[in-house]
Amino acid sequence: MANYKIINGTILTCLEKGLKTEEKTVFVRDGRISFQPFSEDEDFEVVDARRKLIMPGLINMHTHSYMTMMRNYADDVPFTDWLFNRVMPVEDNLPVEAAYWTSLLGCLEMITTGTTCFVDMHMYHRQAALAARDAGMRAYIGRGLVGEDLYGDGYSRYQQAMEEKEEFASDRLNFLLSPHAIYTCSEKLLVQIGEAAKKDGFLKQIHLSESMTEIEDCYKAHGKSPVAYLKDIGFLDADTILAHCVQMQEGDLDIIRNCGATIVTNVASNAKLGNGIAPLVDMREAGINVCVGTDGAASNNTLNMFREMGLLSLMHKAHTRDCLAIPSDYIVQMATCHAGKALKDKNIGSIHEGARADLVFVDLDSPSLFPNNNIISSLCYSANGSEVDSVMINGSFVMKNRDLLTIDKERVFFEVSKIVEANLIH
Ligand SMILES: [Zn+2]
Repeated sequence: MANYKIINGTILTCLEKGLKTEEKTVFVRDGRISFQPFSEDEDFEVVDARRKLIMPGLINMHTHSYMTMMRNYADDVPFTDWLFNRVMPVEDNLPVEAAYWTSLLGCLEMITTGTTCFVDMHMYHRQAALAARDAGMRAYIGRGLVGEDLYGDGYSRYQQAMEEKEEFASDRLNFLLSPHAIYTCSEKLLVQIGEAAKKDGFLKQIHLSESMTEIEDCYKAHGKSPVAYLKDIGFLDADTILAHCVQMQEGDLDIIRNCGATIVTNVASNAKLGNGIAPLVDMREAGINVCVGTDGAASNNTLNMFREMGLLSLMHKAHTRDCLAIPSDYIVQMATCHAGKALKDKNIGSIHEGARADLVFVDLDSPSLFPNNNIISSLCYSANGSEVDSVMINGSFVMKNRDLLTIDKERVFFEVSKIVEANLIH
């Protein structure tokens, strides 16, 4: 592993009171950030980062990377039709190995738009882990769990989750338990997953309170909101990551705050599927740790975190009719250091001594960012991802001067085209 001395750049640091930019030399030693110069007997390469912003890599806290082949496949259809008649039939028939290429396409898109780490919920054994490993990305991989009983009908999926962790756990690859939703998992299964996560030290992620149908069905079945239901069965805790949380009911945010759980908001997916706008302003005021996710490409159409950040800020300002509703530096923190906190790793999502060297080099001479009147707000309001010049993950470049170093783009496009032709129903 090479060491690097990165000179002439501007770095973005995440402090208690907010973000700050400063010109500073960064040293990358054994995959970690340092501000201590190399000694005479250390080998290193010099990287000139003149006119570049060096920021922590973006962390996509909720996606399904394999879904890229369904980009724009089922647009402008109602949510239940989208899920049950369009997406699920394709998923059910997709050969397992195909998900390697479609996940790799997801990694390709994420790297080129400045994402260094993602939390994935998948349903194809080993494929997301293989893709993240080959792409050189940091990832938290979760086998989607559904059914009645973790040790009955859900056992093979749970076994796969355990096997993936056993086979792939590394410096970059982490694993979590991913029950799909309260409407696809029985109460018994959720309780078992909660217990297994505690026993084996797993984080867990679930889709929650995404649509009004889910809320209405939960009240009918349990007489309470999905959040209250999960709390009452002992599922919610500080190791729980809740994707969506669009339709929050009275008392829900207090429960989430008191349990210390994290929320991942997916603004584009929620808007596109007509599910509404999550109450981000209230979540922030409640003191909940909120992060950003893109969801899968079938429900968003892009895994571009810069677009997600821009939409988040603008939609909440419009929705609340308050231009101060959500400041841009808070949004950038949601996509970086908040995610590190949620993933219980203070060494990702932030540039500091000893942090993992997951760095994105943003070209400040991009037309969309120039002049650089406010670099931090430009990341939210002006950037579209094309400004990302180079990406380093765990101390290794995966893209340099827009050249992909770990992924053969032509091969990925070729393979995904074949998969689309064979599997999508037109
Ligand atoms: Zn999802």
